[in-house]
Amino acid sequence: MPELPEVEVTRQRIDGPVRDARVLAVRMGKPLRWPLGCEPSLLVGRRVGPVLRRGKYLWLPLDEVPAASSPAGLLLHLGMSGALSWLPVAAASPAGPHDHFDLQTDRGTLRLTDPRRFGAVVYSAGLHVPPASNLLARLGPEPFDAALTGPIFHAHLQGRRSPIKQVLLGGQAVVGAGNIYACEALFRARIDPRAPADRISLTRAQRLLEAVREVLGQAVALGGSTLRDFHDPHGMDGRFQASAQVYGREGQPCVHCARPVKRLVQGQRSTFHCSHCQRR
Ligand SMILES: [Zn+2]
Repeated sequence: MPELPEVEVTRQRIDGPVRDARVLAVRMGKPLRWPLGCEPSLLVGRRVGPVLRRGKYLWLPLDEVPAASSPAGLLLHLGMSGALSWLPVAAASPAGPHDHFDLQTDRGTLRLTDPRRFGAVVYSAGLHVPPASNLLARLGPEPFDAALTGPIFHAHLQGRRSPIKQVLLGGQAVVGAGNIYACEALFRARIDPRAPADRISLTRAQRLLEAVREVLGQAVALGGSTLRDFHDPHGMDGRFQASAQVYGREGQPCVHCARPVKRLVQGQRSTFHCSHCQRR
């Protein structure tokens, strides 16, 4: 499943090519998770603005002439198996059986390939109005937003008695810490994944936020530095896993204390940790 780092790398890859491109046509394949929400012809003639990311959503603003201050646009989600690719005009190829959305522009085609079709492309009259605002409403703060300080992150943990690992996965204290990244961040911050979230001190919460930023930043850098086959079934998470310190290393020696890494199950997801180095 594409996680936040992969979506961010996708944003970085498509933003240059698609920005300022003018939409010529839209091709729809089989239904995705949600309907487009407008006539495809409504998109034709619009100019694509800078691509934004919020959580695991991408926002493609579509300016009108004259430019609106809060333009309409397309909210995209890659779901379980989606990938966006950019096909320059010279490299145009016919849509395959898993290509369910093509935004054809004067510069090339932005194509969503999604075998499982849990992804979505949704039209919204603005980023801060429905349906976009509804889909984004429950997301916690962005991990790299400077406004998310240690004390604010710590405040988001208050009143949450669930294990810290579950709170991270829930995404309301900070978005983007999927299973691998949550395990790695907790290991680097030396916090037991079972510790109740509201029992974590300010100092440890600050350390955890730094660790979340570190692992997500490493994953983005890894994706950005590697030529990626967008149909690679292991994706970026798989490659990040090769550099993981605890994730997927059950029984292998902890990189700090050499005691065996342990695995437990929380909310039906595997958690990898070192019971010596990580404390409640
Ligand atoms: Zn250890």
